[in-house]
Amino acid sequence: MEYKRSSALFAEAQKVIPGGVNSPVRAFTAVGGTPIFIKEAKGAYIFDEDGNQYIEYINSWGPMILGHAHKPVIDAVIEKAKKGTSFGMPTEVETKIAELAVSMVPNVDMIRFVNSGTEACMSAVRLARGFTGKDKIIKFAGCYHGHSDSFLIQAGSGAVTFGTPNSPGVTEGTAKDTLLARFNDLENVKEIILQNEGEIACLIIEPVAGNMGCIPPVEGFLEGLRALCDAHNILLIFDEVMTGFRLAKGGVQELLGVNADIVCFGKVIGGGLPVGAFAARKEIMLHLAPTGPVYQAGTLSGNPLAMAAGLAMLQELNQGDIFQSLHDKTEYLHKGITKVLTEAGITHQMNRIGSMISVHFCDEPVLDFASAAKGNNDSFKKFFHGLLASGIHIAPSAFETWFLSDALSYEDLDKTIKAIEEIAETL
Ligand SMILES: *Cc1c(COP(=O)(O)O)cnc(C)c1O
Repeated sequence: MEYKRSSALFAEAQKVIPGGVNSPVRAFTAVGGTPIFIKEAKGAYIFDEDGNQYIEYINSWGPMILGHAHKPVIDAVIEKAKKGTSFGMPTEVETKIAELAVSMVPNVDMIRFVNSGTEACMSAVRLARGFTGKDKIIKFAGCYHGHSDSFLIQAGSGAVTFGTPNSPGVTEGTAKDTLLARFNDLENVKEIILQNEGEIACLIIEPVAGNMGCIPPVEGFLEGLRALCDAHNILLIFDEVMTGFRLAKGGVQELLGVNADIVCFGKVIGGGLPVGAFAARKEIMLHLAPTGPVYQAGTLSGNPLAMAAGLAMLQELNQGDIFQSLHDKTEYLHKGITKVLTEAGITHQMNRIGSMISVHFCDEPVLDFASAAKGNNDSFKKFFHGLLASGIHIAPSAFETWFLSDALSYEDLDKTIKAIEEIAETL
């Protein structure tokens, strides 16, 4: 494949945008080479500026669960745009999507919309602190909750990829209130809670981790966290920015049957427009301004285009059997990849839940950040570039999950498996 135009565009971009990108992992730093510049996308395919076509497994890092340029979503945006793109005043569509979201997600009565997953998690933690009157939070190594200060302590994916888990610019004062725990290690969490008795406002977690590859919780882990939080008056925050409306209508709460106190959303909920949200029971949500003292606001929050796109997306997810269909496709892909890598004698692990899947080039099970970090990055680089050259688009980092869309056909999956069979010889 030729990447002439992408290379030229990247050179131009680097002059005016740091690293040529508006979000670091796009820059291919972890895998080397020049990022492809995207021209357009439709369904299961994405096209770059040189005219190359790729089968999509990034899907904008999750939102495009029904495929790119999905007609009902696009139509909803176009119709809304004709009537004005922002008013900074309430609109009916905000209530409609709020009603639908709250009806799909277990255990929540109210929701507030923001503009990104980062904002959702940042606001959820402020709300938890305001509600409990306590300062400290627990997060897990390798979990990513957006780029706000409190979370940039051993955050996954982008931050890890660049080997700067603790970003300069985050003050010690902020960092000291974030306590770090090991994913899938209940005893570790218990210890931390006992050492900080009475000081912890909330525990925030990706209930299925997706930013250190895909790492599902081991049996009893989430239930154990729920019990610990109840026993110590700590709010349990599920960051479902990645898993919400992807793993089930009601996200991980529904799929694994564990209730959180506050749930964060992003990605799918915006249908591909910049949207985040956080939801909880009424008594917690009413602590927010204007009904309560915890301040949170946004000029473009609840933007009509974004709400129309999100509503069209959720309506569709609420109807069909798409989650089963996605599960079946992902399972098919998983089996196919396992078969060809095993036959080629490549040491690897694969994790999967619902439509999230990841391939790790290591020999031990990947259960937490430390085990994910043991993957062979040279193998991953070859794997990534081999796939790209075969017209298959996965995330340019070993710490990212693949996100399937329901637009993928079994023929696309077979092509992917075939490509991996060929690449395996070079690993
Ligand atoms: C992507 C992501 C975020 C951040 O969302 P942005 O919209 O990129 O700010 C937060 N939490 C999780 C689990 C994510 O995957």
